[in-house]
Amino acid sequence: MIVPPPFTKVLIANRGEIAVRIMRTCRELGVQTVAVYSDADQCMPHVLAADEAYRIGPAPSRESYLCIDALLEAARTSGADAIHPGYGFLAENAAFAAAVADAGITFIGPPASAIRGMGDKTSARALVKRAGVPIVLGSETPIRDAGEVTAFVRLHGFPVLLKAAAGGGGKGMRVVRTPEEIATAFAQAQSEAGSAFGDDRIYIEKYLDHPRHIEVQILADAHGSVIHLGERECSIQRRHQKIIEESPSVLLDDAMRAAMGETACRAAAACGYVNAGTIEFLVDSSRQYYFLEMNTRLQVEHPVTELRTGLDLVAEQLRIAAGEPLSMRQEDVRWSGHALECRICAEDPANDFFPSSGRISYIRPAQGPGMREDSGVEAGTDVSLYYDPLLSKVIAWGDTRDHAIARMVRALQEYEISGVTTNVAVHLVVLRHPDFLRGDFDTGFLGRTLAPKMFDVMAEDAQLPAAVVAAWLAHEQFTVAPAPQHGQAQGGRLSGWKSRRAAAMRSGEP
Ligand code: ADP
Repeated sequence: MIVPPPFTKVLIANRGEIAVRIMRTCRELGVQTVAVYSDADQCMPHVLAADEAYRIGPAPSRESYLCIDALLEAARTSGADAIHPGYGFLAENAAFAAAVADAGITFIGPPASAIRGMGDKTSARALVKRAGVPIVLGSETPIRDAGEVTAFVRLHGFPVLLKAAAGGGGKGMRVVRTPEEIATAFAQAQSEAGSAFGDDRIYIEKYLDHPRHIEVQILADAHGSVIHLGERECSIQRRHQKIIEESPSVLLDDAMRAAMGETACRAAAACGYVNAGTIEFLVDSSRQYYFLEMNTRLQVEHPVTELRTGLDLVAEQLRIAAGEPLSMRQEDVRWSGHALECRICAEDPANDFFPSSGRISYIRPAQGPGMREDSGVEAGTDVSLYYDPLLSKVIAWGDTRDHAIARMVRALQEYEISGVTTNVAVHLVVLRHPDFLRGDFDTGFLGRTLAPKMFDVMAEDAQLPAAVVAAWLAHEQFTVAPAPQHGQAQGGRLSGWKSRRAAAMRSGEP
């Protein structure tokens, strides 16, 4: 039976790896694709991968990828009947979703009302609380001044976290542990939120020490069905931003998994949600879970769920947006094995993860059994500082957690990217750290355990991550697998390809 495509032509209002990834599914479904690009992105893989491409403005996001009029103009000119927003940029912008619908084009995402309800973190907290979802102790309306922080800690004690009501990407957040810090932290959070989101409203939460970040993927159709596709553990973070995600979480047993899944569905239903979305929870040291926020879009880490369930979440999004009922019931969802994602970012771990730029001269992608790489770059791509530093995502699947980790380590040891500094070495350090291997970590793990020493070592030779990591691990006397004979290099261990290439380059061989 030939299933007709849900749309004729989809415009992807995004760039980089997520635009390429969405186009792949569109192709598989027989849907034509339209790319948009700024002046900095004319030759990017997402532009080359599309059937058609339209310039939408100069390099700065505000004048291109965030410009609703330019995007709608491109959609009209191309005749696109749907727009997929990806993540970031305008993906959680209710005005954009509404403008797309008003233009008679389908928005592949939730209704504007659901984005609005969940977009403001204080109103989201109030909304899900009414539906019986546990939330972190804190305010359900924005606080006006530092005095309200003092009043809150008088009742509930330190530490507290000041957060931006319009927040995202860990911006506008400040931990406060003493009365002296209150005034400065409030002013800093307010000003950072104002410049990042154009909205300086701040609210307050009790700061959970050593929590884990565990989120649940949901799918909801326009006919009232909501199901969940299991959890992703995202506790390996730098500056409150995820860098490694995995599923299942080692922390959850079946009962807790089922309870969190059911809670997530209830939270989504509470805002009349339709399409794919994620309910994020924090889990404290006594395994109590609390609603953190809802991401009303496709997540960066969605491939982790795809590898475990065998589903294509973008295809599900398109079908839901076309008005089709969910293709499965909760009891039909099957999970298998373990999946793990590492975000490859253009940033310098030796320089506090500061974004890096440059022309990529060479890439050896992640390959081999159980591996997937969703990339937005290739050799020759200019990585600019205009956009998010995420270049690519490497995802591994294995029968067990150990199997998935072993595959990821092997693939990242072979991985090479030259011309721009990346965080690959950080991944290798985490993936081989005994606490990570035991499943004993929380959101503070990366900053607390690894930072100082690793960055000193990495600064010495950022070009040879595997060698650097091996040197650092040896320094820390961690147990590492024996090095391959031909891969021996002074001061560390290189995988075969890398050492041969390095040796060939040193001796001037081709
Ligand atoms: P954003 O939307 O800016 O990403 P989130 O609310 O999703 O912010 O939180 C991002 C991360 O910040 C969490 O994964 C966690 O590490 C940390 N965090 C947020 N709220 C708290 C809290 N109340 N206590 C401890 N850590 C928190």
